[in-house]
Amino acid sequence: MPAVTVNGRTYRAPQEPTVIICIDGGDPAYFQHGFDRGILPALQRFREQGVFTTAKAVVPTFTNPNNLSIVTGAPPAVHGISGNFFLDPESGTEVMMNDPRFLRAGSIHAALSQQGTRVAVITAKDKLRRLLGHEVQQGICFSAEKAHEAQQAEHGIDEVNALVGWDTPEVYSSQLSEFVLEAGLRVFERYQPALMYLSLTDYIQHKHAPGTVESDRFHQCLDQYFGAFDARGAVVGITADHGMNDKNNALGQPQIIYLSQLLSTWFGSEKARVILPITDPYVVHHGALGSFATVYLDPTVAAHQVVGQLKTVAGIEYVGTRDEACRLFALPPDRVGDVVVIGDRGTALGKSPAEHDLSLLEGGLRSHGGLAEQAVLFTLNRPLKAAYRQQLATDLRNFDIFDFALNGVEGGASRGSA
Ligand SMILES: [Zn+2]
Repeated sequence: MPAVTVNGRTYRAPQEPTVIICIDGGDPAYFQHGFDRGILPALQRFREQGVFTTAKAVVPTFTNPNNLSIVTGAPPAVHGISGNFFLDPESGTEVMMNDPRFLRAGSIHAALSQQGTRVAVITAKDKLRRLLGHEVQQGICFSAEKAHEAQQAEHGIDEVNALVGWDTPEVYSSQLSEFVLEAGLRVFERYQPALMYLSLTDYIQHKHAPGTVESDRFHQCLDQYFGAFDARGAVVGITADHGMNDKNNALGQPQIIYLSQLLSTWFGSEKARVILPITDPYVVHHGALGSFATVYLDPTVAAHQVVGQLKTVAGIEYVGTRDEACRLFALPPDRVGDVVVIGDRGTALGKSPAEHDLSLLEGGLRSHGGLAEQAVLFTLNRPLKAAYRQQLATDLRNFDIFDFALNGVEGGASRGSA
């Protein structure tokens, strides 16, 4: 089967069944802790026999921009998905970007499917499904959230619950990710796709820090599935969309800079519109608070003035104009505001106190979106060709994972035993 070229990079069709997994919120700290405790045997084996390192996610370190970067092999400037929603300059309304019409680039798996590679994509939440399933030919694509609704005509599969043997889980649960992996394993056995992409959800990581009973149990569960794919002969490549950090003060309460409030104090009310593109209308588990914001300004307010003022605020790691931020982070300028603001490792960005319900954050806030959540795991269960081994020392990105899995692994290498 011929190779495909997608967004300027060339990918071989899978020589062996290949499974790419995005661990939502896969912060390296969880795995370091797991290795220290010896509770991740499959990943330990990958580390010894293949690759285990860290790579950089794209900024904003949010789920949708990074999932789209992983499957397109390109930054948001190319694929267009800069957040979960953006402010449509024409209508002045906030528009969700879960529809494929917002996509500006094709995916690697869709291009391979068009050449006859059998592809299966399973996501945790349904909001990613249509973006990831766009232009997939003759493949399988469904979400765990709406597994019971999968139909042959639209999703390439039906009776998913019967195949998996599980009911559809709650959307806010650790079972949602486990369902993706269990369904992935059943689909792998039943349909033998040559290429799978499995995308999990970060419910556990938002609630539980590394080293807690809950996060240990969850990562042990993931590790068992990674081992199961490995034992079935798949090339397994795993990365993440972003890390995760505590965003709390010394009292354990959320540490938040309220940008709308600050900007109206400085420049007058209604002069700035703050967009926090981490969220969507039904987010509950992190109170719509992350470390990335973009601000649209009234024409009477100069962007450089806002940048200058925000630079003096403790807890802000980066603030820059649209042009500078889009250059630095490879973002699409028409979907970013006049100013980009990024909170530091311990600080989240909000609008005003009235616009966030902190009562939902009983155990404090863990979130992402900033530069401090850029480091993510990057692992493969096979040894690499020399040229790819050398690339590990360069500026490795999470969106290099398809390249490594399809082009970079040694053929017919020894694999771990079950
Ligand atoms: Zn995520």
